[in-house]
Amino acid sequence: MFIVLTGVAGFIGSNLAERLLREGHTVIGVDNFLTGSTVNMDNLLRSPNFKFIEHDVIHPLAVEGPVDWVMHFASPASPPKYLSYPIETMRVNSEGTMHLLHLANEKQAAFFLASTSEIYGDPTVHPQPENYYGNVNSIGARSCYNESKRYAEAITYWMNRKYGIPVRVIRIFNTFGPKMDLYDGRVITNFINQIMSKQNLTIYGDGRQTRSFQYIDDLLEGIIRLLGTTYEQPVNLGNPQEVTILEVAQVLKELMKSNAQIEFLPLPEDDPRRRKPDITLSRTIMDWEPAIGLHDALARTIHYYQGQYIH
Ligand code: NAD
Ligand code: UDP
Repeated sequence: MFIVLTGVAGFIGSNLAERLLREGHTVIGVDNFLTGSTVNMDNLLRSPNFKFIEHDVIHPLAVEGPVDWVMHFASPASPPKYLSYPIETMRVNSEGTMHLLHLANEKQAAFFLASTSEIYGDPTVHPQPENYYGNVNSIGARSCYNESKRYAEAITYWMNRKYGIPVRVIRIFNTFGPKMDLYDGRVITNFINQIMSKQNLTIYGDGRQTRSFQYIDDLLEGIIRLLGTTYEQPVNLGNPQEVTILEVAQVLKELMKSNAQIEFLPLPEDDPRRRKPDITLSRTIMDWEPAIGLHDALARTIHYYQGQYIH
């Protein structure tokens, strides 16, 4: 298939493009390098089935030739990054999503949206199933991201109703692994970076807030399986293994044989207290569940960064 993939220089986009190429597809990757990097595309640029277009998708995108899927993964995802680029984040998820839906319509292609567990906000239902509407502060610190993703979902389904564009929507829960920018400010990269550079581990709040961390390969498997279904409603993709941030710090210290001290810093505004996906739906419709546990996933990720940064 011919697949237009936005955000291809980012963490998930670059890993996904490699997987799509391995599955035999042709990938037309798009990125403007707001938070991504050409280094992530090294392998891709060696493939004859990969083409790159440098473009900011808040503007209409022209693509020559046939397109079967438009997959929209462009958007900052790390809280410090989207807070540095709040307007860019809102525009890529609103105008960007709209232009890419128009491209899908023009090409008679299907549209695939990377949404997020953030649309559930600070959830009052635990774990979060897809039919939970969320608890989001529309004018809060994270609203540039979570509200614009909610809009992206809304316009995706309205374009689906109005023009009949086939759609897939995934709500991705915290995902990590190779090619994630070590300096992007998310918790796992921060801790690995801090241990490698012999700094204190920064825990925001008391560290008892929870997240459910998924390894990139499990996410990619879920995406590939969803492409093979006809299921059009939103699907959670995440690992239901819920841990506190203190536990993440502890596991990383053990794996990296570190005696780093912990430094407690203020909890950012509207930081969700807990998060865990209900994955009953993805188990049912595509027999998918994560296969890689937190220890193994962290060990693989540490190995990647040690190879990148210690020579
Ligand atoms: P990332 O920051 O590593 O990658 C995002 C990519 O999008 C970057 O290469 C960036 O340059 C590009 N981009 C941003 N704005 C653009 C624009 N206007 N035009 C073209 N390219 C643009 O982030 P990621 O972790 O790879 O996230 C990818 C997608 O997955 C995002 O849509 C994000 O919301 C979603 N997501 C990620 C996670 C996660 O845990 N990693 C969780 C939930 C949702
Ligand atoms: N966090 C932390 N120390 C850090 C970075 C993040 O304690 O150096 C916390 C953050 O406040 C949040 C959790 O770890 O409660 C996950 O943060 P991340 O930015 O990775 O993802 P998100 O908040 O988007 O789930």
